[in-house]
Amino acid sequence: MKRNKTILFYWVLFMVPTLLIAAGAYTLLSHEQERIHASAKASLVQRMQAVCDTLHITIEAVQDNLEQSLLDIDPGNIEKELIRWEKTNPLVRNAFVYHPSGRLLYPDSLVLDYERRRFVTRYESLFSGRVKFEQDQTAFSDVSGGGDLPANRFMADSKPKKRKKSVRQKLLDLSRSSKKEKAPLQSAAQAVDKEPAKYVGKKGWLPWFSENQLFILGWVQPYENNSIYGIELEWVTLLSRLVVDLPKQMEKGAVLVLRDGSGNSMHQIGRRVPLKDEKAAAMITVSPLLPHWQMALFIDEKEFGASKGFMTLSVIVLAIFLVAIISAGTLLTRITLKNMKDARQKTSFVSSVSHELKTPLTSIRMYAELLLSKRVKDENKTETYLSVIVNESQRLTRLINNVLDFARLEQGRKTYQSTPLALDQFLTEMIDIHQIRISEKNLQIRTDMPEPMGKDDYRVTTDRDALEQVFLNLLDNALKYAASGRYILFVLENDDAYINLKICDDGPGIPVAHRKMIFEKFHRADDSLTSKEPGSGLGLSIARQILHDLGGDLIFEPMPGNGSCFTARIKKDDPE
Ligand code: ADP
Repeated sequence: MKRNKTILFYWVLFMVPTLLIAAGAYTLLSHEQERIHASAKASLVQRMQAVCDTLHITIEAVQDNLEQSLLDIDPGNIEKELIRWEKTNPLVRNAFVYHPSGRLLYPDSLVLDYERRRFVTRYESLFSGRVKFEQDQTAFSDVSGGGDLPANRFMADSKPKKRKKSVRQKLLDLSRSSKKEKAPLQSAAQAVDKEPAKYVGKKGWLPWFSENQLFILGWVQPYENNSIYGIELEWVTLLSRLVVDLPKQMEKGAVLVLRDGSGNSMHQIGRRVPLKDEKAAAMITVSPLLPHWQMALFIDEKEFGASKGFMTLSVIVLAIFLVAIISAGTLLTRITLKNMKDARQKTSFVSSVSHELKTPLTSIRMYAELLLSKRVKDENKTETYLSVIVNESQRLTRLINNVLDFARLEQGRKTYQSTPLALDQFLTEMIDIHQIRISEKNLQIRTDMPEPMGKDDYRVTTDRDALEQVFLNLLDNALKYAASGRYILFVLENDDAYINLKICDDGPGIPVAHRKMIFEKFHRADDSLTSKEPGSGLGLSIARQILHDLGGDLIFEPMPGNGSCFTARIKKDDPE
């Protein structure tokens, strides 16, 4: 009991730190997973930023190119060149020429098609002179739908107090003024030849909101007080150029969406469509050149990142680690318990062997001394004493043989000498030799040995001495533990590849709990019967080992009712 408590104490001492370490490792791993998750997210945001920077550079490059080309247009050929651009350059949606005095020289308001009319309407506030062409302007907007309000004043002026003229009226005005100014434009151009105007190279881009959409207008004014002209970018073309800069794929669980100023998705990378009210993990303004355009990152936490796999792997590794530690602990405990049991058994073995050696020696010595003193005159008594001496010395021999055999078997040194042996003959001889011992215990001898069908029926090739030792161990046990019974039954039966030699008794039998362990070395059933009888717990283990070595086996079966039955299975010769 005390030993069990000690083991339990050591188990607790072992398990508590192990579990604490495991819990600590799990917490660390969870933190690590969160850290990896966060850094994966951060790197995605960084990537997003890099994409936005690239988009910005692309737009800037497109705009710079267009600006330069606009500045490079021959001043005498502006209108013609711009019309050509409108037709051939996919980046140009509309073109215009405007005189700073407030006149739109191109497109001609009188011959406007639908697209051009919308264009002129969109920039009405600009072309009417209310909004100035200024360099580095921020976004302008036309929320009124009339196209006359810049976005940087949009918040303050989002509702114009009073629309002075109808749009149509304004267009007419513009056309009228453009007609009037046609001549000054030409004369201005001609004037360049005569007296060159001062080159100022003014330029700029106007992000312009109209009809809930962003338009971008680029303009240049090469010479002071001279015409301002430019183009409106074609969105579809610009977007198709931008898409090239976007990554083709995203990490699992991540979706990148490019949104315009109204929140419409212009392009998406990643398969999952974000939910309507889904909160973005990160939002970045794409570029100052695309006001209100944003890049939004959506993350599905369940699917995102290698960190999930990392955590699963870590938990598996941790579980393996725990199982390994606990198994090692269990194994060590079992080994310790077994060693302790072995040590106990060895101690009890030594004391029981000493006792077994002492008992026959004491009898032999006592009777031998009596006979030596010549005081015993009765012949019968002398004979009895001599037979006691013979019996006891035989017992001593058996015991010593067992101990010696045990040592040899343990070290694998036992050798066998097989010779042909008729088992029926062997059994009859054995019974004859030991019948006196059996009768002394008041036990009947019963045999069940069917007549052999052929003369070789019970013939085997085996080690006779080893088999005799097996027989003696089984018979000794029956005499020791089943003396309260009525008989000992010897059976010989032919069974396929074996001949079974059974030694059965009708004694008290073996308690169920011990039946599996009786073949273990030093094991003795822990009952009152065993404690009365001398023994070392080696007999059955030696007998079974010998039979195994000879290719057979030793099996225990309880007898129906009471008693035990041990079957020595002796291997038949292989048929030639
Ligand atoms: P030993 O007889 O020296 O104790 P054995 O290995 O021969 O060792 O037997 C192991 C145990 O099996 C015995 O201690 C006894 O409890 C039990 N046993 C063996 N044979 C019999 C039997 N015929 N009847 C009852 N118990 C038996």
